[in-house]
Amino acid sequence: MNHRKLLIAFIALLIALPLLPITPEFWITQLNYIGLASLVVLGLVLLTGVGGLTSFGQAAFVGIGAYTTAWFTTRYGGSPWIALIIGLALTAALAFFLGAITLRLSGHFLPLGTIAWGLSLYYLFGNIEWLGKHDGISGIEPLSIFGISLAPGRNIYMLIWLLVLLAIWATSNLLNSRPGRAIRALKSGAAMAESFGVNTAAYKIVIFVYAALLACLSGWLYAHMQRAVSPGPFGLTHGIEYLFMAVVGGAGYVWGAILGSALIITLRDQIQNVLPKLFDTTANFELIVFGVLLVIMLQYARDGLWPIFNSLWTRMFGSGESQRNRPAPPLAPGLPQRPRPKSGETVLVVEAIRKEFGGLVAVNDISFSVRAGEIVGLIGPNGAGKSTTFNLISGVLPSTRGAVTFMGARTDALTAREIAKRGVGRTFQHVQLLGNMSVIENVALGAHLRSNVGVIEGTLHLDRAREAQLLHEAAIQLKRVGLGDYLYEQAGNLALGQQRILEIARALAADPILLLLDEPAAGLRYKEKQDLAKVLGELREGGMSILLVEHDMDFVMRLTNHLVVMDFGTKLAEGVPADIQNNPAVLEAYLGGIDDDLDLDPPPVSASISEQKGATT
Ligand code: ADP
Ligand code: MG
Repeated sequence: MNHRKLLIAFIALLIALPLLPITPEFWITQLNYIGLASLVVLGLVLLTGVGGLTSFGQAAFVGIGAYTTAWFTTRYGGSPWIALIIGLALTAALAFFLGAITLRLSGHFLPLGTIAWGLSLYYLFGNIEWLGKHDGISGIEPLSIFGISLAPGRNIYMLIWLLVLLAIWATSNLLNSRPGRAIRALKSGAAMAESFGVNTAAYKIVIFVYAALLACLSGWLYAHMQRAVSPGPFGLTHGIEYLFMAVVGGAGYVWGAILGSALIITLRDQIQNVLPKLFDTTANFELIVFGVLLVIMLQYARDGLWPIFNSLWTRMFGSGESQRNRPAPPLAPGLPQRPRPKSGETVLVVEAIRKEFGGLVAVNDISFSVRAGEIVGLIGPNGAGKSTTFNLISGVLPSTRGAVTFMGARTDALTAREIAKRGVGRTFQHVQLLGNMSVIENVALGAHLRSNVGVIEGTLHLDRAREAQLLHEAAIQLKRVGLGDYLYEQAGNLALGQQRILEIARALAADPILLLLDEPAAGLRYKEKQDLAKVLGELREGGMSILLVEHDMDFVMRLTNHLVVMDFGTKLAEGVPADIQNNPAVLEAYLGGIDDDLDLDPPPVSASISEQKGATT
């Protein structure tokens, strides 16, 4: 039985439960609470599990949904549906505002910030006269749809779970779309994503608002189910509990939201039944039990219970479909391409750029230029400043001074994102992939700027045609670099050499004018290096400009039109490969024992090209 059948069985069970008269009323109530919590926790899955932004304050947004409808329907006799719209709008505005302030905070300050506004909103609910202070608001009317009252638990159950399933559908859609891939890069690949034009700050706010809206929806349902609201359920304790549910269920998985909510709510209920009998007290012991459980979870099941459940299921019944043998994405119209410079036209001019790290001059007034249809090699011992030069050109680091001109315009003051937009694609010396994302998705992220699918289109799955274009483009680039057989493999499962090649495909997917490759052949075998050299040669034929850092001199000498040699941040020499090989200063730098990391045997810059060897750096 595969996952689809499991899903159908689950939905069938969900529908059957309230229809069967033998289902105890208590179960229905419990399931309603689980559904309400699942909505909030699903937001946390996206925000915390996927996006890496921890929030303790979600209960406050539940409160806004609940209080808005309580106030609007009881004081003004307004329609609950209009109240829902007002609540969502209010939540979106507030979340946008709070997000804009708090999401800039890094490390522990972000969770602390969420605690701060979670508490503030809680006290606000409890102290405003017209919100009933600590007594709250009661006498809220139940919902009704097409004349059917949702007052009975079995009726509102249907609405709650319909909304939960819709929210799961929407969130899964979002995660598998163009904006979703950007969101999945937030936690561990933000700098890399910026280099492909992803506005990470904006996506953080997007998932923050998204999670808040789900919480608000849950609060709205809660108010009409409970028929009364008071500040209690919207305080910090509940904020922590929602986060706990997300962690237990599996913060990175949409279905983990339901699993976590179900487990914790059931467990809390059992504890509240059993513990008072054992200890003869009515104190709230569940938080202590939860705390202990959390420590155990973090020790033994960091990713939560959903992946464990999932792998057990797969082991017992098979997954039904093999990811690896999936056919390539179908043909789709090509993505728009940018106009390319004519061969020989100057693409990049670097003038006296300098980078100081404290007292260390990593890049010391380096100048060179790159023309269209040319491969320029940037060589030098480890620590010479090559990668730093790349980071200055691509905007990852700000330069201390100097000018970078790309396609006739200054770019040294621009952000990585803006430079990517203008057509600079790059790979990283230390591979920066999203290891738990498939190979093809990693490459599709590279084409982020070539599509315009937004969050709402992604969420509602209105992006089919454009998504197909992106995946098709990713597949083309992967075939081009020789990874056509690994489209659906998890990127983290590839060998290191293949991961480097994957990075080239990702950079190519951006349709760059200039390609910056930082040690692309490191870790490749002889045959793989030859294939890579062929691909790079073909790219040059097609008019691509490439700036290449590489330690394998044979590879460099064969491939490049022009070489720039750096040592200790300073340019030692520059010229055609044949001249560089005989340059005394270069020979001195390489043979003078300064660098023993270079894997060159016999010595690198002798006139005879050495036998091919794998570089190890
Ligand atoms: P290469 O790529 O040629 O091996 P790098 O550009 O990585 O050299 O490094 C050049 C020098 O700058 C090295 O001495 C390195 O330690 C230093 N360096 C690089 N990045 C940083 C940084 N972020 N902070 C401080 N020093 C750095
Ligand atoms: Mg380097």
